[in-house]
Amino acid sequence: MKRAYNFNAGPSALPFEVLEKAQKEFTNFQESGMSIMEFSHRSKEYDAVHEKAITDLRELLHIPNDYHVLFLQGGASLQFSMVPLNFLSPSRTADYVLTGVWSEKAQDEAEKIGKTTTIASSQHQNYTFIPNMTDIKPSHDSAYVHLTSNNTIYGTEWKHYPTLDVPLIADMSSDILSKEIDINQFSMIYAGAQKNLGPAGVTVVIIKDELLKNSTENIPTMLNYKIHAKKNSLYNTPPTFSIYMLSLMLEWVKNQGGIPAIEARNNEKAALIYNCMDESNGFYTGHAQKDSRSNMNIVFKLPTEELTNKFIAKSKELGFIGLSGHRSVGGCRASTYNAVPYESCEALVTFMKAFMSEN
Ligand code: PMP
Repeated sequence: MKRAYNFNAGPSALPFEVLEKAQKEFTNFQESGMSIMEFSHRSKEYDAVHEKAITDLRELLHIPNDYHVLFLQGGASLQFSMVPLNFLSPSRTADYVLTGVWSEKAQDEAEKIGKTTTIASSQHQNYTFIPNMTDIKPSHDSAYVHLTSNNTIYGTEWKHYPTLDVPLIADMSSDILSKEIDINQFSMIYAGAQKNLGPAGVTVVIIKDELLKNSTENIPTMLNYKIHAKKNSLYNTPPTFSIYMLSLMLEWVKNQGGIPAIEARNNEKAALIYNCMDESNGFYTGHAQKDSRSNMNIVFKLPTEELTNKFIAKSKELGFIGLSGHRSVGGCRASTYNAVPYESCEALVTFMKAFMSEN
């Protein structure tokens, strides 16, 4: 079977090995005569899957003991509300760095709950860059600073993170596990799974005790991080199948050599495509400024809209999936998450070169 050249922005490509393993175990998990989906979330079999996912994520990201790992539902979008509900008290301001539509949405939700401010933004230049580190200055009454580490729509990515004396909270939905990070710089990280972590359905939250300690008490149970932490994400029924798939993904990352090996490969994959753009004499132009380029979402356009449309139509004929840009930016976008093979990127570059010489 020939696999598609899948450049979807999310849900996106999964490793073939992971899909095969899930298929093999699908109807008969560990010789139980049952699918993992049919087990109680309180069973010892499911518990082993749940604990392995936590342990492997801790190991891969070097998560210190004073952080909890939670598996929640509602996507990254629910985190936009849960963060201010838990951490924004009436006497404080929540600081947001705007680097794209997802950061705007995060701030919009917080604004419904309390006072927020935008402390840095690249909105005035159509989100083509990540603001300077020196511009990240928290408010005097800051509850936390929120940023989006990778901007899925605009193709920009933070290369370093500010070290602050207030809690730093990051939406890492589209670049978690793609490169090494120092967890200690963050009080909280969250990510919807459907890019680098597996299928949709589970949201990973990594949260420091110190932040949790001061969270708001009187909020709905299902929106309360403290409850989920206390119950090890088993207050209610978790998305057991998505967590099982996450555990297979984490095992796959470990088998690839862990995050350093994944990061090196991601660098090579992105460089292949960016080099093709840079050597095209302006035929392919990137949306992001060079020093803010994302290794996960490569956003570019062709000289005219007509050529862009022709490029996308032709790509579909050749078996490429997901190369249309997001409707708010237009152009093209190639998402090169962890599971996208190097060979898919090579095939894309071969196509880009051929298309350029024919047009
Ligand atoms: N944040 C980022 C950076 C995203 O890319 C997305 C979705 N693509 C979201 C948040 C929203 O995630 P969800 O659909 O899981 O709510």
